[in-house]
Amino acid sequence: MDLLDTLTAKGLNRELPTREEALAVLATTDDELLDVVAAAGRVRRQWFGRRVKLNYLVNLKSGLCPEDCNYCSQRLGSKAEILKYTWLKPEEAAQAAVAGVAGGAKRVCLVASGRGPTDRDIERVASTIGAIKEQEPGVEICACLGLLSDNQAERLAAVGVDAYNHNLNTSEGTYGDITTTHTYADRVDTVQKAHGAGLSACSGLIAGMGESDEDLVDVVYALRELGSDSVPVNFLIPFEGTPLAKEWNLTPQRCLRILAMVRFVCPDVEVRIAGGREVHLRSLQPLGLHIANSIFLGDYLTSEGQAGQADLDMIKDAGFEVEGQGEMTLPRHRADVSAAVGGGCGGASACGSHETAAETAATGCGGHAGGGCGPCGDAHAAPAEQGDTVEPVAEQPAADAEPGELRSDLVKVRRRGAGTELAPNA
Ligand code: SF4
Repeated sequence: MDLLDTLTAKGLNRELPTREEALAVLATTDDELLDVVAAAGRVRRQWFGRRVKLNYLVNLKSGLCPEDCNYCSQRLGSKAEILKYTWLKPEEAAQAAVAGVAGGAKRVCLVASGRGPTDRDIERVASTIGAIKEQEPGVEICACLGLLSDNQAERLAAVGVDAYNHNLNTSEGTYGDITTTHTYADRVDTVQKAHGAGLSACSGLIAGMGESDEDLVDVVYALRELGSDSVPVNFLIPFEGTPLAKEWNLTPQRCLRILAMVRFVCPDVEVRIAGGREVHLRSLQPLGLHIANSIFLGDYLTSEGQAGQADLDMIKDAGFEVEGQGEMTLPRHRADVSAAVGGGCGGASACGSHETAAETAATGCGGHAGGGCGPCGDAHAAPAEQGDTVEPVAEQPAADAEPGELRSDLVKVRRRGAGTELAPNA
């Protein structure tokens, strides 16, 4: 049996591939790429059918973070010209969230830059959730607020949070190369706190930061070990003004191999194409849907995605369907486990109000992986004034960026939606 037959059989039976098999996926050739996608697609369809879950990011607080995550536009010392603002009012955040739900999102991801929330911040998030659920009582809520202190996860669960996002981002061995103000162990601790409080754990990675194949496999195995219900796969958006601004290391083919490796290692988990989808997968985005079962709708935290309608059109054109609020996300066996832990996600029927299960968030967020998260982006610059001109999103940027080059033309800083007077992209 060749590699792909073996991986497909293991994925259909929820068996863990060997490290060598996971590495071999990353080493496949372009001639083998469609076979890799087809094999991962069989596993995806087994556990998630043709459903695509849509998640919508709301950046509650943007930029000015005291942490120094190299990939993040919101980091300490970032010169990236992103939006910078402090906590949105609950009604402002609710306006953006409701637009996302109207656009088809099943989950809203509430993200705030910073090392971690104060107890006052938890109260702010509680008020925001109240404002959202007044209008959309069935929506899943994921919070992405950074490192959690004792009892904060329980408090979030009590106010209606279904899932908590906190990405590991990269391997334990290289974590110190991308951040010095907190540790890999700090991140693991927060994911465990969230899980222990009954929140669905959402934790993922960022590819394209100069890591090795071994690093990618290490972090994905660690995420499986942690029991993440959802794994956002971010592709680094190299913001000008950050230390990784010249790290253009990814190709669309490489992104598909990474997604396939994640799917084989985490076959029955929500795999989300997160930040960097448009910039790095470009015209191959629809092939990514054959592997991943989840994406973000519209914009990211500090960068703009393609138009929300373009996301919906892509899903339809590729023969997939948007997952509804009444549908289970995770397979029943995972939803049952999550519910036993305390209400995590997976099941829609569940999620929504803590009467059901919840899932994860991510947002790509690396949350605080990305600064708030990964896909997230970063911050800086004052909020846009009403009447500012909004340029059309570059739909498919040219793919000729070379490592070592600045390509700010490929990165579109978010200038609409939360924190501005302009309508959200949803
Ligand atoms: S990833 Fe989060 S913690 Fe790190 S710099 Fe960005 S906002 Fe701050």
